Amino acid sequence: MSKYQIETRCVQSGWHPKKGEPRVLPIYQSTTFKYDTSDQMGRLFDLEDSGYFYTRLQNPTNDAVAEKICELEGGVAAMLTSSGQAANYYAVFNICEAGDHMVCSSAVYGGTFNLFSATVKKQGIECTFIDPDASAEEIAAAFRPNTKVLFAETIANPALVVLDIEKFASVAHEHGVPLIIDNTFPTPINCRPIEWGADIVTHSTTKYMDGHATSVGGCIVDSGNFDWDKYAEKYPGLTQPDPTYHGIVYTQKFGKGAYITKATAQIMRDLGSIQSPQNAFLLNVGLETLHLRVARHCENASKVAEFLNSHDKVAWVNYAGLSENKYHALAEKYMPNGTCGVISFGLKGGRDVSVGFMDKLQMIAIVTHVADARTCVLHPASHTHRQMTDEQLVEAGVAPDLIRLSVGIENAEDIIGDLAQALEHI
Ligand SMILES: *Cc1c(COP(=O)(O)O)cnc(C)c1O
Repeated sequence: MSKYQIETRCVQSGWHPKKGEPRVLPIYQSTTFKYDTSDQMGRLFDLEDSGYFYTRLQNPTNDAVAEKICELEGGVAAMLTSSGQAANYYAVFNICEAGDHMVCSSAVYGGTFNLFSATVKKQGIECTFIDPDASAEEIAAAFRPNTKVLFAETIANPALVVLDIEKFASVAHEHGVPLIIDNTFPTPINCRPIEWGADIVTHSTTKYMDGHATSVGGCIVDSGNFDWDKYAEKYPGLTQPDPTYHGIVYTQKFGKGAYITKATAQIMRDLGSIQSPQNAFLLNVGLETLHLRVARHCENASKVAEFLNSHDKVAWVNYAGLSENKYHALAEKYMPNGTCGVISFGLKGGRDVSVGFMDKLQMIAIVTHVADARTCVLHPASHTHRQMTDEQLVEAGVAPDLIRLSVGIENAEDIIGDLAQALEHI
């Protein structure tokens, strides 16, 4: 499908039925797959033939959806995972082991921060966090001889920092390590990090890709561009024999498919965070309208950001689409068609006023989610970061008055109307 534009890929990529097969991607609701001879099955277990045998390893519904996301991002291979958390964990753990080190932007999703600061640490992988706005030299200073990964988000959730992808890619490649980018917020509709030098792209498909708040899921896409053999001593898992598959060497046997094959055949086999075929089906339905929805989210968010920015009860607005925003120039470069539908803002009077405002909203709901069709709000200081004092919140980069607003695809005037009436009441 690579000769087609991105909108056509959203609709058509992935499932290609042959004569008499279902037009719509079927849900292969089967744990297992049938073979005629013992030898046929044996060859699958040796990775000598490709084919389905057990859904923990591969399932046709999931593979069709992974292929669609792969084509949207411009990669060579992809896999679905049960959640965005699993995608980010597997993406790193596929090439890092105990004794290794990674470098990560400090402006990342809270779950990702916990994963890399605490959980992978217990497995012997150390992470240094760096300011994404730091210079290339400052970022380079965090690298060590055992650094294996540089990780960042295209648009950070919830800080809304826009990443200078080329700066990150050049620091990573000067040190012979791949750049992994979590591209959840812009989606490949607005930004394709591989085109700017990223090696591996991850997603929480739970957000805009699913788009309807029905299914938790994740995805990993490999560009196939990183030369693992050039740094063979750093990535033995890909370049040395795997004793659990009779000593095959992933880079020798699978070439550009090495990274995703290893992630599937080894990490998914052993850790097992698969996406259910049911959820993959729902994700695919979401992907068919991704290009329409993302454009509408951005259009609505721009109108809402302008409204809030000119309201006298609003203290500040953070949205890279606003021309005075600190990240506007980076957004123009990497995402000329728009950034995402998420805005953060604060109200004059601080924390209590923010809480009072949210309680007055009528259509806009208070939920722990972002990036689905319905407009919603969250007050991190009262919800996700509830246990922290105001001083701790400021240290964590979450202002006590910060309201995270995820602008949906309703009528923009109705969204603004609801915000306006709630502002009147405070
Ligand atoms: C939500 C989110 C995640 C985690 O994804 P889940 O699907 O909730 O596990 C990771 N990264 C970003 C940027 C997210 O917004």
